[in-house]
Amino acid sequence: METDPTRMCELLVGLGEVDLVGIDDGGEGTPLVVVIRSRRPRPTCDACGGWVWSKGYRTVVLVDLPAFGRPVRLRWRKRRWMCPNTDCEVSSFVEQDPTIGPARALLTSRAARWATVQVGKLGRPVQEVAAELGCDWHTVNQEVVRWGEALLEADGDRVGAVEAVGVDETLFVKRGRWRTKQWATSVVDVGGRQLLDMVPGRTAKGVEDWFSSQPGGWLEGILWAVLDLSGPYRSAYDRVLPNAAQVADPFHVIRLANQRLDEVRRRVQNETLGHRGRKGDPLYGVRRLLTAASERISDGGRTRLRGLLDAGDPHGEVRTAWHAKETVRGIYGIDSTTDALSYTLQLADDLQDESCPPEINRLGRTIARWTPQIANWHISKVTNGPTEALNNLIKRIKRTAFGFRNFANYRIRALLYAGKPNWDLLATVTPH
Ligand SMILES: [Zn+2]
Repeated sequence: METDPTRMCELLVGLGEVDLVGIDDGGEGTPLVVVIRSRRPRPTCDACGGWVWSKGYRTVVLVDLPAFGRPVRLRWRKRRWMCPNTDCEVSSFVEQDPTIGPARALLTSRAARWATVQVGKLGRPVQEVAAELGCDWHTVNQEVVRWGEALLEADGDRVGAVEAVGVDETLFVKRGRWRTKQWATSVVDVGGRQLLDMVPGRTAKGVEDWFSSQPGGWLEGILWAVLDLSGPYRSAYDRVLPNAAQVADPFHVIRLANQRLDEVRRRVQNETLGHRGRKGDPLYGVRRLLTAASERISDGGRTRLRGLLDAGDPHGEVRTAWHAKETVRGIYGIDSTTDALSYTLQLADDLQDESCPPEINRLGRTIARWTPQIANWHISKVTNGPTEALNNLIKRIKRTAFGFRNFANYRIRALLYAGKPNWDLLATVTPH
C-alpha cells in the first residue's frame, strides 16, 4: 500500500475531482493498481431530470500512464444510479466522467492522449507504446484511432486555402488469398505539403465524390491540379475542377519514358537471344545505365553503354528508345513556356514516327494526349513531389502498423501523421 502523500498526489494529477480509495501493489512485475472514485455531485436523470437513487458501484479498469517506472491500472469505482420515476424510460445508469475516461474507454483520457501523440504525431510503432503502457497492441491502436478521429472532427480549420492540389495512388492493402491489391488515393496540398485526405480506391468516382463534398469557394481557389498520367484522375479533375489547370507530374512522365525504354530492351533481348535477360547478356548489363539520367553517367559508363548496345542491339531499337527517353527528359530543361509547348508537340509527333519501335510510338501517343498538362508544368512549376513524399510517410505508418485492414483506421492514422492537425485541440476533445 502506497502511503507517501507526494507520490499518491502524483498519481492523481490530471484526473479531476477524484478521491483515492487505495492502492493495490502486487509487487515488481505487476502493474500498480490505483483505486479511485469520482467526487462529482449526484446527477439528475438524463431523461426525466428527476432525482436519482444510488444503486452501488460498477468497477472499470483502465490502462493509465506509467508511474515510478511501472505500468499503472486505474480501478475506477463508478457510481450506479437508478431513476425511481416509473414513467421514465431510464431505469439505471452509470456515472460518466470524461476527465478520467469517456464511456467504453480502455485507456484513461490522459493515457489515451499521450498514446495518440506518440503514435499519431510522432509515428512511433503501436507495439512500442503498448509495451510502455503494459497493455496489448489492439488496446492502443483502438484508442489512438478513436481519439484521433475526435481530434480530426474537431479541427474544422485543418484544411486551409489551397492553390495547388495533387492526387496520387497508394497501395492500401493486399487482401485475401490472391493478395488482391486495394488502392487508396491521397489528396494533397502540394504547396503546403499537407495530406488533405485519403479516398478509397483510385477511381474517378472516389476523387470526384471527395471534391464534390468540399465548399465551392474552396474549390474555386484551386489554380493547379497535379496528377500522374492517369485517365480516371484526369476525368475527375475535368468534372470537379474545370477551372484549374492540370499539371502532369514530371516524375511520372519521365518514369513512363523509362518504362517504355525498358520494354524495348526486354523485347530486343528476347528477340536476339531467345531468353529473358540474365547475367552476362549485354542488354541485361546495360539496364541500369539506360534508365540513369545521361548527365550522371561517367565517361567510363558511357563507353560501356555504347559497347553493350553495339553488342546487344543490332537494329538500334534500344538506342532509339534511349534517345526518346532523354528527349522526354529534355522537356524539363526548357525555360520558356511557349517553347516547352511546341517542343512537346513536336516530340509527341516524332515519337509516333514509324522508324521508332512500337513501344516508343505508344509513348508518343500518350504524350500527345497529355501535351497541355505536360507543358503546364513550365507555368506552374508544381509537382507531385510532396505527394510522393507524403506517400512515403504513409508507407512508413503502414510498416509500423503491420498494414491496415480497415480503411477508416488507415485514413485516420495517415491524417494524424501527415495531415497536420492542430494538436493543441487534443486536450479539449473527448471521443463520443
Ligand atoms: Zn428518469
